[in-house]
Amino acid sequence: MKTKADFPNINDRQPEGLKDDGNPFRVLIIDDSMFVTKQINQILTSEGFEIVGSANNGESGVEKYKELYPNIDLVTMDITMPKMDGVECLEKIIEFDKDAKVIMISALGKQDLVKKSLLIGAKNYIVKPLDRNKVLERVVTTLKKQ
Ligand SMILES: [Mg+2]
Repeated sequence: MKTKADFPNINDRQPEGLKDDGNPFRVLIIDDSMFVTKQINQILTSEGFEIVGSANNGESGVEKYKELYPNIDLVTMDITMPKMDGVECLEKIIEFDKDAKVIMISALGKQDLVKKSLLIGAKNYIVKPLDRNKVLERVVTTLKKQ
């Protein structure tokens, strides 16, 4: 288990990725871009989050979610993917677990799909290009939502 001591910081703050009990928040990344997956992975693991899985299309994303459940705290969901897109994948995950915490990762110009996703039950969204502070801020806010 990682502790505060693994993340030395001049402000000595608690890493955002750790729960009060010291265990990491567990994240599934669903994205067809290896670059974006790696980016999210790097941003989150640097704050102590644990990436418990990744999937590169909606179909395997749903499967992965069911496999990991209930040992999963958050999903980052790309919108545009082959086989099954992020909106449909979100729908299927919410159908399976209505309390799932899903953040949509959207390209510019996809406002309609973002709105649709929020209506379906996505808790938040982030517009690409990804910025470290924005990603952490949205992830932390989403984890606090009930
Ligand atoms: Mg994509």
